[in-house]
Amino acid sequence: MSSSPSWQPFLPCNAVCCRYSEIGTKGRNRGSFVRRLEEGLTRALGRSFGQPRFEVERGRIYLYPGAEGALLTEGQISSLRQEIPNLPGISSVSPGWHCPRTLEALEEYVWRTLPTVVEAFLESHPAQGERTYAMRVNRCDKSFPLLAAEVEKRFAEKVLPRWPQLTLDLKAPALRIGVDLRSSGIFVDYERIPGPGGLPAGSGGQALALLSGGIDSPVACYEMIRRGTCVDFVTFHSAPYTPEAGLTKICDLARVLNHFQHRGRVAAVNLLPLQKAVRDRCEEKFRTVLYRRSMMRLASAVASCFGDEALVTGENLGQVASQTLTNMRVIEEASPMMILRPLLVYDKLDIMRVARQIGTLDISQIPVPDSCTVFAPASPATGASLALVKANEERLELPELLRECLRQTTTMSPVNYAAYPLEEAWEAPLPL
Ligand code: ATP
Ligand code: MG
Repeated sequence: MSSSPSWQPFLPCNAVCCRYSEIGTKGRNRGSFVRRLEEGLTRALGRSFGQPRFEVERGRIYLYPGAEGALLTEGQISSLRQEIPNLPGISSVSPGWHCPRTLEALEEYVWRTLPTVVEAFLESHPAQGERTYAMRVNRCDKSFPLLAAEVEKRFAEKVLPRWPQLTLDLKAPALRIGVDLRSSGIFVDYERIPGPGGLPAGSGGQALALLSGGIDSPVACYEMIRRGTCVDFVTFHSAPYTPEAGLTKICDLARVLNHFQHRGRVAAVNLLPLQKAVRDRCEEKFRTVLYRRSMMRLASAVASCFGDEALVTGENLGQVASQTLTNMRVIEEASPMMILRPLLVYDKLDIMRVARQIGTLDISQIPVPDSCTVFAPASPATGASLALVKANEERLELPELLRECLRQTTTMSPVNYAAYPLEEAWEAPLPL
């Protein structure tokens, strides 16, 4: 995800103002959330900024490009546009000018930069209707000699006569001059790069997501990451019935999702031994539910290897046969771990919109046969009875079958697709 192309001219500003929303409500824990945010910023921007310097103030983190007085380069500003939309916890950032807390300094910084900005703005906004502007002043420092509206008016009285092409629009100006009046200084900016909001990576525990090649599960992962959870991934395949391409597709999805967090691991489990036994010994209509119950058991075993505390699925109420309340309950009954379903009540169109926005939709839409379609029943049960499902499971040698699936479990690198046996899973405790 990256923000829309910017018309902004390059101006060597001296700081970046990072805004966070929800963390602001965190009372005593705020310090640790802010530290995670700083770590996330350092990680995401490290390549262009090296080791940035931070200054924290209520509701704001200021990031400086290096030693006192250093200015931002064009490359650093474009890396902000590239990386910030992927950084959970950030509501927006602005490259701009941190200047002393006086009206004279504000006038000097604005008039030094505004003419270049307005020229570029007028050139890239040829239609009269879109040439709207406003200065918006946030007066946190209640001792500042002028009120917010007085500062806005003072500038408007000079800006409008000088550029009569501009019209004032206080609600949604296309050109916004942001002025933050604080006791530590004034911040002036012309651009807001939106972040995804939510909470910073790593602040919300660690979970294992069941990632299929569909549209939903990658969005479920993203929603968890946006709440600060570090997400590892497990996928189920049925080699040799399902192709190798299914696994590279999962790695491609994991790679995109890892843009929003730090190195989620990928495990691939071969479900085929179990599926064959279910096909041969159980009632056809229960196959999907039986597969799913064992997926939960196997996922729990993988989670214990990775140290994950919960499972995540892309289940969505009523979307397909296995996703009725009754079936979800029957599936959940086999899981020793908490199952989180962040998309439970989402609309399919909303899921697709997010998938497009985060860059997983195109990958998900590549058609590759999924493990669940192997020996899929013609008409699956939509309201499976737990007693009947359990009676079907009794016909299986479940411990041996699950062990066999775990012996065929690998971890894969989402970067180069290299696969290694996940040996810890061979002996992982089985939830039976
Ligand atoms: P998706 O778009 O995520 O595939 P779906 O609408 O196809 O979802 P189902 O196939 O019923 O839904 O799967 C529900 C959830 O079960 C998925 O979102 C995913 O979390 C998990 N799941 C299904 N198949 C697999 C698989 N082969 N590997 C890993 N997880 C799976
Ligand atoms: Mg699916």
